Amino acid sequence: QHGQPGIEYVMDPLPISENPNYIGTGKLKGKVAIITGGDSGIGRAVAIAFAKEGADLVIVYLNEHRDAQDTERRIRQLGRKCLLLPVDVRSPGFASYIVDSTLKAFGKIDILINNAGVQYFQTSLLDISEEQLRNTFEVNILSFILLTKAVLPHLRPGSSIVNTASVTAYLGNDTLMDYSSTKGAIVSFTRALARNLAPQCIRVNAVAPGPVWTPLNPASIPPERVAVFGRDVPLGRAAQPYELAPTYVLLASDDGSYITGTTIHINGGQMVTD
Ligand code: NAD
Repeated sequence: QHGQPGIEYVMDPLPISENPNYIGTGKLKGKVAIITGGDSGIGRAVAIAFAKEGADLVIVYLNEHRDAQDTERRIRQLGRKCLLLPVDVRSPGFASYIVDSTLKAFGKIDILINNAGVQYFQTSLLDISEEQLRNTFEVNILSFILLTKAVLPHLRPGSSIVNTASVTAYLGNDTLMDYSSTKGAIVSFTRALARNLAPQCIRVNAVAPGPVWTPLNPASIPPERVAVFGRDVPLGRAAQPYELAPTYVLLASDDGSYITGTTIHINGGQMVTD
């Protein structure tokens, strides 16, 4: 069917974080990467691929999230260091705490992956409370800008920032209106910051995934929609998290040395216009 060679594809919302056929070739050797939401879903798959490529990881995640220890164990198995930082990216001072902790543990920062995200399903704007709206904007865009600002003084030429956007930035999901707005803001922020940092040789890009099997959707959208999740895209299925990871490696590594200010679409063939 639509499975990747060598990978058993299960049409089930169990996320597959790792492609066993993916063998790192040292593309991120000696690099230190911070990944928000690196315990789960897309962020976890990216963290594991980065470790295979030789990076040490700082995994930022929300307290209640469960898979962090598993992610840390896997990264250590791969021979890399991992610092787990349970910190709410809505809390005051979170960004300087992450930067200080990273510098204390590893002495430098090379890569920032802004990836934490939340979403609240709605059939009308009237369904969404002010508190939920504030959460969506605080986690999905404000935290990206605040953490980037805190990391920036420590980045050197050759550093890379990758922001997780979404296909909803382009298509406008009418059941995720606030979420779609924050993802549009990520695309614009990425473009603007890339131009601003280009003279310093710091690259900034975004990834815009379509539907991906992660805990995010089953946790927030109605079960009847989860049952048909991804069926409407041309490839006929949602992605597994591991299928996104190589693109983050490309953007974070020197393989992407001439790519900046762009958004890479990984959406199973959905047509989007910029
Ligand atoms: P996920 O639920 O597995 O991961 C979300 C992560 O965000 C969690 O690891 C959690 O620890 C972190 N997080 C949430 N609130 C936080 C907070 N206040 N403080 C610190 N960390 C917090 O979901 P995912 O699908 O892997 O989402 C990762 C990114 O991908 C998000 O930005 C999401 O919008 C984006 N995305 C997902 C899909 C999809 O279909 N799954 C599609 C497009 C874009």
